[in-house]
Amino acid sequence: MQRSSPGTQCYACEQPATSAEHAPPKCVFFFFFFFFFFSHRRDLPEGIPDQRSHLITVPACVAHNQAKSGDDEYAACCIAMNAEGSALAMAIFESTRLRAMTRNDASLGRRIFRTAKPATNREGQETLAIRYEVARIDRVIEQTARALYFHETGMRWPSACKILCPRFFRDTGGHEESLARLEHLSGGFEELRRRQGELGVVRGAHPDVFWYQLVEPKPASPLMRMMFYGTFEFFATAS
Ligand SMILES: [Zn+2]
Repeated sequence: MQRSSPGTQCYACEQPATSAEHAPPKCVFFFFFFFFFFSHRRDLPEGIPDQRSHLITVPACVAHNQAKSGDDEYAACCIAMNAEGSALAMAIFESTRLRAMTRNDASLGRRIFRTAKPATNREGQETLAIRYEVARIDRVIEQTARALYFHETGMRWPSACKILCPRFFRDTGGHEESLARLEHLSGGFEELRRRQGELGVVRGAHPDVFWYQLVEPKPASPLMRMMFYGTFEFFATAS
């Protein structure tokens, strides 16, 4: 584990930092590199080994180092399983996350599939419907947003941090009206990205896997969009 320099405060509280926390969690990237190094795909995209050292880290106290909780692996697996339309996510999932899920007496796999029920998809094929522990995934994404904000500004996220995810929205009892607002928000960020101005800058060491956008319309009111595999998005707001 990387150590932080002495006297540094945690990105999320006033406790002294004891380690460096990756944002997003390292396992999101670890699986990615593992896939390219050890799968049949030896044709490494140019620059990947270098990118690895550019992952974002922030100083973290013991309580805010989520690597210990197992939540990060749970979230990384659920996101890859749901990154519809991403061949990269599917290939990574099949080659490495299945292995992660069956490790340690398959505790991660059992946890994910515990709520699985037989279902039929839109094409009429039999499948499994899984109810994800959205609160657990949100915890990981919240810490990621707080860490990225600290990385960007050198300050802690100013207040409460609410995580919104269009994909999990109905699972958490969200209203259609709120979902429409979320889609509007997504469209706004997309417009900024298309214009490529300062506000539209997309950040992240390996955008195939993860990138984020941060805007702050008013002081101390950050709004962040986080994108996994170019298809699975989360928003973090301060209210
Ligand atoms: Zn802390």
